[in-house]
Amino acid sequence: MTRIFSGIKPTGHMTLGNYLGAVRQWVAADQEPDDALFCVVDLHALTVEHEPARVRRLSRQAATLLIAAGLDPRRCTLFVQSHVDEHTRLAYLLECTASDGELRRMIQYKEKAAKAQAGGDGVRLSLLTYPVLMAADILAYGAGEVPVGEDQRQHVELTRDLAVRFNQRYGHTFTVPRATHPAVAARVMDLQDPTSKMGKSHENGSGIVYLLDEPGVVRKKVMRAVTDSGDGGVVHDRQARPGVANLLDILAACTGGDPAALADGYSGYGALKRDVADAVVELLRPLRERHAELAADPAQVDKVLREGAERARGLARPVVDRAYEAIGL
Ligand code: ADP
Repeated sequence: MTRIFSGIKPTGHMTLGNYLGAVRQWVAADQEPDDALFCVVDLHALTVEHEPARVRRLSRQAATLLIAAGLDPRRCTLFVQSHVDEHTRLAYLLECTASDGELRRMIQYKEKAAKAQAGGDGVRLSLLTYPVLMAADILAYGAGEVPVGEDQRQHVELTRDLAVRFNQRYGHTFTVPRATHPAVAARVMDLQDPTSKMGKSHENGSGIVYLLDEPGVVRKKVMRAVTDSGDGGVVHDRQARPGVANLLDILAACTGGDPAALADGYSGYGALKRDVADAVVELLRPLRERHAELAADPAQVDKVLREGAERARGLARPVVDRAYEAIGL
């Protein structure tokens, strides 16, 4: 069975983009605990300006939401990255394999570094090395598949490059993983700015649907979504009509249809938005209900995370030990 690994940063409240692009794939993977590892990657939350008091709270909230979304702790390993030292142990060895140039070429690095500079903050070195730590997250477990949204494609490519390079130089050590993306909604766009992705760390929340938004809030955000100018009707064209295409993608992801075929059923934006709002509210309803139950018992979530970290450590340690030996230590 192919082992899968994926993660989510506790940098803000989880969004519809996180769910449709990544988490839903995780839930769909019917696995055994040793073959499905999902991680709240808290060390990655420290790469940009962060509030210490929020990180731990958001980590537990992310874990609670993942269980509410359908991850079954008996059928997967759910844990927090900083609880397992093997990630940082391996990251250093991979830093000795990666080059400065290939990290500076990463699109996310360029965007986030520009934003940090514009805001008057220095660019943390960890922002540059973040994809190497992400490679360590994946390679430490010998994962074969990494279910992620489209925005992580480049980082998984880098992970592959680093694995191949390490194996060639020091002997076969790592499984070379591949990214998997959902067929639709692999990149959910911001409802107010459909040229940029719906990201939980963005400050302007009005274009972002959060998983715990009340139904009334979801409806308001969807009904106010920016649609494209011009009189082209409802068509699915991501380049020319990104706002409408985004709504059709979300509807298709929620209802299981095909976005281009769904477009034929609408003559105006109003009806489309109403259907999108209904579909998202229905999609999120069970998740919100289950979250309320789980949040009432945080000790249970902490127990899941403790047990998850123990199991994860047991899987990662032999791989990382082998890497240390292979590199000559
Ligand atoms: P964010 O960018 O919201 O901080 P993370 O970096 O924590 O999200 O990513 C968690 C997972 O969610 C990744 O697999 C990522 O590809 C996916 N993801 C994030 N935003 C979106 C989006 N707008 N559409 C689809 N997938 C997304």
